[in-house]
Amino acid sequence: MLVMELEEVLRKLESGEISFSRLEKVLGNANLAALARRLYLERKTGVSLSSIASTIIDFEDVYGHNIENPIGAVQIPLGVVGPLRVNGEYARGEYYVPLATSEGALVASVNRGVKAVTLSGGATVRVYKDYMARAPLLRTPGVEEALRLVGWVRENWDRLVEAAGRTTRHGRLVDFYPYIIGNMVWLRLHYKTGDAMGMNMATIASESVCKLIEAEYPGSVECVSLSGNMCSDKKPAQINKLLGRGKYVVAEALIPGRVASEVLKASSESIHYLNTAKNLLGSAAAGSPSYNAHAANIVAAIFLATGQDAAQIVESSLTYTWTELRGGDLYISVTMPSLEVATVGGGTRLPTQREALSLLGVAGGGDPPGTNALKLAEIVGATVLAGELNLLAAQAAGHLASAHRKYGRGQER
Ligand code: NAP
Repeated sequence: MLVMELEEVLRKLESGEISFSRLEKVLGNANLAALARRLYLERKTGVSLSSIASTIIDFEDVYGHNIENPIGAVQIPLGVVGPLRVNGEYARGEYYVPLATSEGALVASVNRGVKAVTLSGGATVRVYKDYMARAPLLRTPGVEEALRLVGWVRENWDRLVEAAGRTTRHGRLVDFYPYIIGNMVWLRLHYKTGDAMGMNMATIASESVCKLIEAEYPGSVECVSLSGNMCSDKKPAQINKLLGRGKYVVAEALIPGRVASEVLKASSESIHYLNTAKNLLGSAAAGSPSYNAHAANIVAAIFLATGQDAAQIVESSLTYTWTELRGGDLYISVTMPSLEVATVGGGTRLPTQREALSLLGVAGGGDPPGTNALKLAEIVGATVLAGELNLLAAQAAGHLASAHRKYGRGQER
C-alpha cells in the first residue's frame, strides 16, 4: 500500500501535478516526504543519496522549524579541544570545546593554543555589551520630518518598549540608535533576547514597533522595510564593530615566555611582532574589516557543532587580535564585537547540536535566562583566543606549511 502510494506520488511529481513543497501535506508525514523527494531525485539524476539518507534527524520534529523540502542531512566530522580554562563571569572552569570541521590541522592547531592558554592560568573573558539589533527603515517626506520622527520616538519610547514586549516573554527593547540619510530614517533597535540569538524575536517585536509608529506618529511616515541593513545581519559591516551586535566579547591571557617557547615553540617577541605586521598592518593593507589570523575558523567550527546560524559567521568572526610584550611574557587578547550565539532556538534544538551544547553545560535556557548564551559566548571567545595564539606562534616559528603537510592534505584519489 505504502509502496503504491509512494509510486503514485513520484508519478505526480514527474508530471508536475504536485510540487516538492506539497509532499508533507500529501503524504501526511515529513519523513515519508523526505524519502519521496530522495527517491525522485535518485531516479531523475541517477545519483545515489544513501549517505544523505543516513541521519538520526526525525523530520517530523524539524520540518516547519528548521528546514523545508528536506531530503536528509550532511555530516561534518566533530573534534574536541581541551581542557580549556576559562575565567569568565559566566563560564568558570575547564571545558572541552566541540569543533565541527573538515579542515585537517585545525583541531590540532587550536588544541595546542588551548594547552598554552590553560598552562598560563586560563583566559579571562568578559561580555562588554549584549543585545541583538534590528534596524527598520522609515521614509519621511524630508529632513525636518525625519528629525521630528526621531524626537517623537524618544518622547514615546516607553510605549514602543511596551509594544515590543507584547510579542515576547524574553525579548526586551532596551535602546535605539537613529541614523538619517536625506529623508530616510533608520531606527537601529537594540533588544535583550535571553538565551536566544534573537533575530526572529527582534524582527517580530520590531514589526509591532513599526506598526505603532505608523499608526500613532502625528506626521508623515512609512515603514519601507523591517530590515534596513543597518542591523546588520549576515553581512560584514562596520556598524557591528562600532555599536556591537549579539555579544561584544573580550578574551585575554598573559602567556609566560617559558610557555611560549616550550609549548608554542616561538618567542613572545616573535609572536608580538608577527601580530603587528600581519594582523594589523597586513589586514589594513588588504582593506580587511577583520584584524585577526583565523578567528572565522574557530567561530565556524563551534557554530556548526552547536547549531548556531551559520551565515552569521560573517559578522560573528569580526575580531581584533591585540598583543603586547610584558617583560618576556606575551599579553594577547581577542575582541569580538558581534558574536551572535544562542542556546535556545534555531539549530540549537537539533539532537547532535544539543549534545554539543550539553558538553559545554549550556543546552537550553539558562537560570536566570540569558546566562547560558553569555557563558557560551565566553567559551567561544576563549577558544578563539587559543586559536589566534597558536596560529601566530606557528607562523612566527615557520611551522605553518609543515603542520598542514602533516595533518591537512586531502587524500583525493
Ligand atoms: P526563535 O526560536 O525564533 O525564538 C526563541 C524562542 O524561544 C522564543 O519563542 C522564546 O519565547 C523562547 N524561549 C524559551 N526560553 C528562552 C530563553 N531562555 N531565552 C530566550 N528565548 C527563550 O529564535 P530567535 O533567536 O528569535 O531567532 C533565531 C532564528 O532566526 C534562527 O533559526 C535563525 O536562523 C533565524 N533568523 C531569522 C531572521 C529574521 O530576520 N527573522 C534573520 C536571521 C536568522 P519568547 O519570545 O516568548 O520569549
